[in-house]
Amino acid sequence: MNDKNRTGAGDPGRRKKMAIRNIREYGDEVLSKKCKEVSEMTPRTRELIEDMLETMYEANGVGLAAPQVGILKRVVVIDVTGEDPYIMINPRIVESSGEQTGPEGCLSLPGKSGVVTRPNYVKAVALDVNMKPYEVEGTELLARAICHELDHLDGHMYVEKVEGELQDVTAEDMED
Ligand SMILES: [Zn+2]
Repeated sequence: MNDKNRTGAGDPGRRKKMAIRNIREYGDEVLSKKCKEVSEMTPRTRELIEDMLETMYEANGVGLAAPQVGILKRVVVIDVTGEDPYIMINPRIVESSGEQTGPEGCLSLPGKSGVVTRPNYVKAVALDVNMKPYEVEGTELLARAICHELDHLDGHMYVEKVEGELQDVTAEDMED
């Protein structure tokens, strides 16, 4: 997911070895496939996660799912503040409540946004980078980002849920 208010962040010290990956765009068939669970942490998956963080920050995103870089694994990274990344492996939403309706965008559909209704609160369980289970609770943007990114793992994009028409996001909007 993207956020027009994001100006880019992250800890520069730990970004040296990472690489920016190519973000797949809407229409690429990899974005409509169901991802596989991660059964163990491997150097390859660790590298994927590092690269996903780098790619998300570089694109000023607030979330990125592995299929968006062409990898069909149940891995998402989310950071709605720019300094507090969640790495979520095999994530699952276990609780949700309330409702929020607002604009949403996706790094796989640059220049567009659309209005989507999501729960205003979600609780998710996931594994961290050490494959240890943990819980994430989020409201507002974090709740929206969790829903958006987890949808990617099942081959779904927010455009399927847009109320009304997709809007063009102009450079002017981006500078708000
Ligand atoms: Zn997305």
